[in-house]
Amino acid sequence: MSGDNPVPTGHGARLTVDLAALVANWRTLAAHAPRAECGAVVKADAYGCGLSAVAPALWRAGCRTFFVAHLSEGIAARRLLPEAAIYVLNGLPPDSVEAFRAHGLRPVLGDRNELFEWAAAADGAVPAAPHPAALHVDTGMNRLGLPVAEALALAGDPVIARAGIDLVMSHLVSAEQPDDPLNARQAADFRRVRAAFPGLRASLANSSGTCLADAARHDLLRPGYALFGGNPEPGRPNPMRPVVRLEATILQVRTVAAGESCGYNARWQAPAPRRLATLSLGYADGYPRSASNSGHALVGGVPCPIVGLISMDLIILDVTEAPDARRGGTATLIGDSLDIDSVGRAAGTIGYEILTGLGSRYVRTYVE
Ligand SMILES: *Cc1c(COP(=O)(O)O)cnc(C)c1O
Repeated sequence: MSGDNPVPTGHGARLTVDLAALVANWRTLAAHAPRAECGAVVKADAYGCGLSAVAPALWRAGCRTFFVAHLSEGIAARRLLPEAAIYVLNGLPPDSVEAFRAHGLRPVLGDRNELFEWAAAADGAVPAAPHPAALHVDTGMNRLGLPVAEALALAGDPVIARAGIDLVMSHLVSAEQPDDPLNARQAADFRRVRAAFPGLRASLANSSGTCLADAARHDLLRPGYALFGGNPEPGRPNPMRPVVRLEATILQVRTVAAGESCGYNARWQAPAPRRLATLSLGYADGYPRSASNSGHALVGGVPCPIVGLISMDLIILDVTEAPDARRGGTATLIGDSLDIDSVGRAAGTIGYEILTGLGSRYVRTYVE
């Protein structure tokens, strides 16, 4: 994946997704808990990386359990993964039972209404075979899931078997901050919950959760972000391999005199004579406008600051220090020293938002 390989003519930028790195990351995370199964969260079109390439690659590597957010994402995943267990995190919307059953999807039931609706549908089925589902227990997020007390009150209730519950899960509030006392509190509450449902599998850990002590690991890991190269342990060296690389074509290079500005509303002024390069990529491609005057791109390995406001289709770089900058060359916006976490920081957001915002206008290249 060299930065000198030009973007195909007619396109502004290329997004390269390294499926071998993705699979290596899945194996690294799986090794954090060798006695647990390692699933994969592939919601939001596999964090912007493309479900249709990502899901089969993980399946071929041995991943058997997948999580998406929406029923529609589950249906798309089912077409790619005829035999996988696919859980739908956002639960069971009204009147969706038939679609879930028809596609063999497993709702993550997030309140009593969803639980009883799913169980009632199983009662009416001929033959009366329940379709599997998960029970989501809320241990602190106050977002989705039954409160712990409500879940404990359901222990031993026949509705759990009638609904085909095969997994009990919860979600960590601050897993990427290992010192946050919330982690231990949630882990303790979740231990009580799983003890009340003997025989069910249990899942608590997202990417960062797989790096916490044993308390978070249980039977099934649910990493998403780290599969795609995000650092599950912020503040420490990133153990994950980078998965995405974003490169844009340099359209032209110009020299400006001291005092000249660039871009809309003249939000940058040259402190001295500067060389500027204009890239064929902008916020319409999913590169965040909030990185104006704060982000960087690499030209021939040299970090070059983004100057002025990012436009819809164009970004201006100060390439004074980059002798390789030339018309038809490329600049790397994500890749090498510019990992998704640092791009997120420069844009005042998180790497998750950078990934899931990746646009559809690039040429996309998948490498095995
Ligand atoms: C998105 C999500 C995950 C994956 O989280 P990452 O931080 O991306 O690893 C796991 N569990 C639930 C419930 C989620 O919503």
